[in-house]
Amino acid sequence: MQELVSIIVPCYNEEKVLPELLEKLDSLARSVPECGFEFIFVDDGSADGTRRILERAAQRDARVRALVLSRNFGQQIAATAGIDIARGDGVVLMDSDLQDPPEVVAEMIARWREGYEIVYGARATRDADSWFKRVSARLFAALLNTLTDCPIPPDAGDFRLMSRQVVEVLKNMPERHRFLRGMVAWTGFRQTSVPYDRPERFAGETKYTLRKMVGFAFDGLFSFSTKPLKLSIVLGLLVTGLAVLGIVYALVLRIFTSVWVEGWTLLFIAILLLGGVQLVSLGIIGQYVGRIYSEVQRRPLYVVREMVGFSQERDRAQAQDRAREQAQDRAAGRARDRAADGQSGDRQ
Ligand code: UDP
Ligand code: MG
Repeated sequence: MQELVSIIVPCYNEEKVLPELLEKLDSLARSVPECGFEFIFVDDGSADGTRRILERAAQRDARVRALVLSRNFGQQIAATAGIDIARGDGVVLMDSDLQDPPEVVAEMIARWREGYEIVYGARATRDADSWFKRVSARLFAALLNTLTDCPIPPDAGDFRLMSRQVVEVLKNMPERHRFLRGMVAWTGFRQTSVPYDRPERFAGETKYTLRKMVGFAFDGLFSFSTKPLKLSIVLGLLVTGLAVLGIVYALVLRIFTSVWVEGWTLLFIAILLLGGVQLVSLGIIGQYVGRIYSEVQRRPLYVVREMVGFSQERDRAQAQDRAREQAQDRAAGRARDRAADGQSGDRQ
């Protein structure tokens, strides 16, 4: 049976890149004729012409579907919405700006068909990214790896192919603060990577503001590790140790030289240090408490305003197309077999 591959693309104000991406996806589908494709675009509350372009594309091409969210929910949630609705045997997650080149997907599909359940794109080079982005990404990967027990590949983003089995596990992970690459790594299936050079964004600007980046890093950290809580214990112990030293020093001075520890300076330093350590610890605990709170509210992860191109007639039409293609493939296969039989018969 022909396998279906779903390609999921979260888009936030991406009118400049979508026409090119649609073309590239079409050539990808043509370069992998052995698979059927569906392209699921998730409009993450765009304010530009993104929705219009997607609607037109869906009218032209039965493989294109668009999920329009009611507002901007962020890339990770938009991707989750796509994953929830994808029907493919293999599901690919990619950015819209061609920084995850669609050509690489052909290679991913090949590895998946070899039997790997997760195939992720490993950034061989990322010269196109800014200096700040590269350094912060490397630091973050190092921090994450020391703090978490789950091996998250440091050179990978969210560009990956997942098998249906992985997707079903992912769909059963309802957490709100989503760090998809970690969640996929957590599932523990067999994974491999396909190296690729990460080009520059095709057009438009990055949609990841510094604030979004920090929020994302926090999600990775706090969703995958409780070690920051231990850090606050360590900090507390250190300060307590310092306090004991201070007490001994003050008492010894008073008893043996009958002078008080001098000055405001020491007092000032002690107050600031204690205040700082306490606030940091409180902040760390606050992160976890806040996450527990939003988790127990149990609100839906996203709100879909509109589904474009998801009608049953289209599904049927697509199924018929695929059946026809399969029949043609089979006929071609039989013809090949007959020709091969004929040849071997000649030889006998
Ligand atoms: N994106 C999104 N919602 C957001 C931010 C980004 O759907 O709130 C999408 C964006 O349209 C793109 C992908 O996520 O397809 C990656 O974003 P971008 O290329 O701006 O990030 P960068 O590559 O700079 O990290
Ligand atoms: Mg990008």
